[in-house]
Amino acid sequence: MDHHNRHSRPREECGVCGIFGRDDAAKLTYFGLYALQHRGQESAGIVASDGNRISQHKGMGLVPEVFSEENLQGLKGHLAIGHVRYSTTGSSNITNAQPFTATHQGSTISVAHNGNLVNIRTLRDELEKKGSIFQSTMDSEVVVHLLARHAALGLGKAILETVKTIEGAYSMLLMTEDKLIAVRDPGGFRPLCLGKLTNNNGSYVVASETCALDLIEAQYIRDIDPGEILIIDDTGLRSLYLDSGQRKSYCIFEQVYFARPDSEVFGVNVYQSRKRMGDILAKECRVDADFVMPFPDSGNYAAIGYSQASGLPIEMGVIRNHYVGRTFIQPTQSMRDFSVRVKLNPIRSFLEGKRVIIMDDSIIRGTTGRSRVKSLRAVGVKEVHMLISCPPTKYPCYYGIDFPSGGELIANKKTVEEIRDYLDLDTLYYLSLDGLIQATGGSRDSYCTACFTGEYPVPPDKEFHKLALGSHVRCCGS
Ligand code: SF4
Repeated sequence: MDHHNRHSRPREECGVCGIFGRDDAAKLTYFGLYALQHRGQESAGIVASDGNRISQHKGMGLVPEVFSEENLQGLKGHLAIGHVRYSTTGSSNITNAQPFTATHQGSTISVAHNGNLVNIRTLRDELEKKGSIFQSTMDSEVVVHLLARHAALGLGKAILETVKTIEGAYSMLLMTEDKLIAVRDPGGFRPLCLGKLTNNNGSYVVASETCALDLIEAQYIRDIDPGEILIIDDTGLRSLYLDSGQRKSYCIFEQVYFARPDSEVFGVNVYQSRKRMGDILAKECRVDADFVMPFPDSGNYAAIGYSQASGLPIEMGVIRNHYVGRTFIQPTQSMRDFSVRVKLNPIRSFLEGKRVIIMDDSIIRGTTGRSRVKSLRAVGVKEVHMLISCPPTKYPCYYGIDFPSGGELIANKKTVEEIRDYLDLDTLYYLSLDGLIQATGGSRDSYCTACFTGEYPVPPDKEFHKLALGSHVRCCGS
């Protein structure tokens, strides 16, 4: 990870993928995780079962770095679940790599979790008082302990009792020796979808995003419903529902930034939704400029939408180096803003003297934005206007997105005018919340918008809140 730039962008959270009913389940899970790599780059893991024996492989790094043809062959069986994870540095170790597997009274259960439980401290303390011993700091391990406590009820009821006690965001895959179970929290914060593998009856895939289905040529069936527990085994599919009365709380940031543009998330195609954000920005804020330009790749689709709606041309005046790894040797101190320039280089001869609209999807700390504007001024851009395809990000996320704590978010401390001044911009405009919701085609009461409004659909417990205020809110229960 580029430590210099840490948290200048919101970090992706986690991705999950599971396969039921194919002899090459682990290999298909591998490809599913490959498609979900954008959701987590620090560790990856797959657990497989042949109906009796469970085997697993986990490691730090990107999916192709963690898995080889050889170790995939060792993951035998028709059933597999996998996980890609992003975490903060402090918890970035193999103990916290998922899926998490435990054996209780002779049966094994594995859990791969995307999201954050907001009552995790309370649950953990209670379990520890009752004698539970934890190996990791993951939410998934707490889930496994809770399941073990209810084991006598049978699997379906044990899961139902467990999800009644956990609060927050969870799109989870569970696996026993012979069952694949998909669970989504009643708010449905994180996406989770069900697909059918072609040319084999009774084979299913569950994944965070539909782009994973596309890669393995699976057919999308439907999203797992908020509050649904879907159990897949040799007898077919059956669902249980948790009726908590909670309203839907789809994470609107999935649409703005996290999800891949080729995915259908919460029933909407992300590419089109991002284009519409640009389209609505053009209606809300017209700027007299020579052209609109994304900083690749974050503002690409909104820039297309803005260009088409406003009639202003779109240009790619900043070139991205595609081969920059996650870490690089830091240059000497005199090479200022190096980490921005190494990735993105403005074309001096083209940009000189121009009036430019920059399109981006977020301003988190403001440090990256500031360096980018500086790099444009340095090549002689005359006017720099910046349009952001969502409202100001003012509050931390408790539901699995690794934003910095509230105090470090620039919009938490400064007004839009102060941010404009800090970034040295001629214009700064943020898309309105109504405009953003309109772009997604949803309604205000189906989305979580807490990082813009501070209205948290599921209040975190006190300990969790303190943690979020004091440091980074960690992802996936890390
Ligand atoms: Fe998504 Fe923001 Fe809600 Fe977190 S607070 S779930 S990032 S909309």
